[in-house]
Amino acid sequence: MDQNPDPMITATAKRDVRALNRAEHAQQANDVKDKLPSDLKHHADLASEKGASSWLSVIPIGTHGFQLHKGDFRDALRLRYNWQLSNIPKTCNCGANFSVDHAMICHMGGFPTIRHNEIRDITASLLTEVCHNVATEPPLQPLTGKLFSARSVNTSNHARPDIRARGFWNNHQDAFFDVRVFYPNAPSNRSGDAYRRHEQAKKREYGQRVREIERGVFTPLVLSTWGGMGKEAATFYKRLADLLSSKRQNPYPAVMGWLRCRLSFASIRSAIMCIRGSRSSLHRPVYMDNINLVSQEGRVPPPEYIIHL
Ligand SMILES: [Zn+2]
Repeated sequence: MDQNPDPMITATAKRDVRALNRAEHAQQANDVKDKLPSDLKHHADLASEKGASSWLSVIPIGTHGFQLHKGDFRDALRLRYNWQLSNIPKTCNCGANFSVDHAMICHMGGFPTIRHNEIRDITASLLTEVCHNVATEPPLQPLTGKLFSARSVNTSNHARPDIRARGFWNNHQDAFFDVRVFYPNAPSNRSGDAYRRHEQAKKREYGQRVREIERGVFTPLVLSTWGGMGKEAATFYKRLADLLSSKRQNPYPAVMGWLRCRLSFASIRSAIMCIRGSRSSLHRPVYMDNINLVSQEGRVPPPEYIIHL
């Protein structure tokens, strides 16, 4: 009698057990969440979004960039569960009361822009591996009097979507992307589907112009400050992982996991920078020498004439 079980039956049984365990864990998590106060439940929901916990679940190996130092790790945990942060100032340099909610949206110091650019640059850099003609902030073709049916279209000659890449969705067609990183705890983002709202706003701004003038495809990449992403961004990053997986000959799940980790660490580091970063005017370049003038008036010798004793 053959004692070896049929591998097909074993594989099916294992899959069924895994699915049962997943369903049971999801039910347990929902039961716990239902008992939380509403504010903490909101944070728990945000932390449960796909990709938002990658920084916490990965093994912290510094050489791979998967590490936060002690202070950052504590801050990241406190932010995740909406616990009080220690040693934060009472007042922001812009004059408002300092709080996490304020720090995440205050433009003094340029942190929201740095946060946005970080996601843009990681994405553009990965696109260069799998697409041609990749550019950040690419100029669009001038409109020369073209009128659009939608009044919300950005018709400025200075309009710049964040990224362009050829051949991402279809061969020989330019794809355009615009990144938005929003703070989900801001009052305007707490109701309804904030991801969808931001995606629609971006599409109204660029969709028709990209479609009709550039003959391209426009995709909004909307992420939350905690690393969660909108439907269109999720589809985009899955496709990017798929292309990278083929190019690098690595399995898709590994590439997708790695990509989520990169975005998650970028998000959590940017969030901490918004809170701990310096907004002091002392950290801005307030005085720059006019190098030409100083060199001429001071007769600054070029390096080859400096005699080293
Ligand atoms: Zn401020």
